[in-house]
Amino acid sequence: MIHEAITRYLQKHHQTALSPKAVLFDMDGVLYDSMRFHARSWSEIAQKYHLNARTEDFYLFEGRTGESTINELFQRTFHRDATEGEKQAIYKEKTALFCTYNDGSPMPGAAEVLKEARMAGLQRLVVTGSGQSSLIDKLNKSYPGHFERDKMVTAFDVKYGKPHPEPYLMGLEKAHVQANEAFVVENAPLGVEAAVAAHIFTIAVNTGPLPDHVLTEAGADLLYPDMGSLAKDWREIMEAARSVRL
Ligand code: CA
Repeated sequence: MIHEAITRYLQKHHQTALSPKAVLFDMDGVLYDSMRFHARSWSEIAQKYHLNARTEDFYLFEGRTGESTINELFQRTFHRDATEGEKQAIYKEKTALFCTYNDGSPMPGAAEVLKEARMAGLQRLVVTGSGQSSLIDKLNKSYPGHFERDKMVTAFDVKYGKPHPEPYLMGLEKAHVQANEAFVVENAPLGVEAAVAAHIFTIAVNTGPLPDHVLTEAGADLLYPDMGSLAKDWREIMEAARSVRL
């Protein structure tokens, strides 16, 4: 299955081989078990502002900027864009709610994946739409010794949110690697789309409530139910990546 996935990737992106040097990790839903708190905060905000949304929508929107999520809900409910003032006020409220609920739990199995990536000699980077100012401190606390300040892409770096490839292209730049020298680990359909659009081999982990097909249809090259099962397969993936040639 892994060999076939790599062959399909190479054919699709007109590459002859993978040459693993870096892993670009998404953050919420991959390194942290935080999506349920985002979804809860968004749902409460939607209810308060009478915006038409189901909890599942926030897993489908995951990876978008907060402003674009608010705009989508305004279009759907009121058939107009949200004003700048509305976007800023609502996003501020959502962020405050999230900070109240978020317990900072690391994603089960994520530490094992990071360990495997380090043992395989790969750089580890974070690519996130999050704009928390103390992110590197938080990451260093949860995952000591894995991440460096200048090897992160956050909301402060990018102009476009996922599904635009920009965040992952910037991740490649910061790692000083080409698309066929990196892997992405993502949990959200729009994040998978962004990584695939950046021509990177994309491993999806379905840590949320959406059906698997949403992630495969977004273009994921491999799909795992959780980070623990990805950690178990990591060496096999690396061996295949280093041996499969077109
Ligand atoms: Ca995510």
